[in-house]
Amino acid sequence: MRQAFILAGTNLGDRKANLDFALNALEQGCTIKRASSCFETEPVGFLDQPWFYNQAIEFETRLSPSELLSLCQNIEFSRGRIRTFPNAPRFLDLDILFFGNLILEQENLIIPHPRIQERRFVLEPLAEIAPDFVHPVLKKTIRSLLETCLDKSRVRLASCPQNSDK
Ligand code: ADP
Ligand code: MG
Repeated sequence: MRQAFILAGTNLGDRKANLDFALNALEQGCTIKRASSCFETEPVGFLDQPWFYNQAIEFETRLSPSELLSLCQNIEFSRGRIRTFPNAPRFLDLDILFFGNLILEQENLIIPHPRIQERRFVLEPLAEIAPDFVHPVLKKTIRSLLETCLDKSRVRLASCPQNSDK
C-alpha cells in the first residue's frame, strides 16, 4: 500500500456535495486516512469565477500512479466535468499531490504536483492533515512551505456543517 494525497477542488453546483461525492468515490478503490476541513478559496489565475471549495485527502492505495490518475479522471467526469481551458470553473478537479516519496515526470502525470508550493489553497488544507510531511523534491515540510508561500490569495474555512464537527 502506498500513502497518497489528493487535493479536491470545485466551484460549480453544490460544492460541498461535490467534495463528498469525490470522497465517497475514492473510498471505493482506496483506504481514506484523513480528510481536511473544507476550505473556501479565492480563484487564482482566471479570477472572474466563483470561489472554490478545496479539501485535501490522505489515503492508502494499491493502485499504480497511472491507475490513480485514471480513477481521478473517471470521478471528475462522472461529476460532470467538461474540459475547457486551464483554471476554468469546474464541478470537480482531483489533483494528485504526492504518491509516497515517488518522483515522477511523465507527459501526462507529474508527481509531486508541480505547483503545490506556490498555492495557498493547496498548502492550507494539506497543512491541516499533514504538516510534517516532507516534500520529496524540495525537502521541506508542508508547514514550512506554507510559512514561506508568497501566494496571498484568500483561504478561509468554509461554513459547512462538517467543519464544526472537528
Ligand atoms: P488543472 O488541474 O491544472 O487545472 P486539469 O485538471 O485539466 O488541469 O489537468 C490537466 C492534466 O494534468 C491532466 O490531463 C493530467 O494528465 C495532468 N497532470 C499532470 N500531473 C498531474 C497530477 N499530479 N495530478 C493530476 N493531473 C495531473
Ligand atoms: Mg486537475
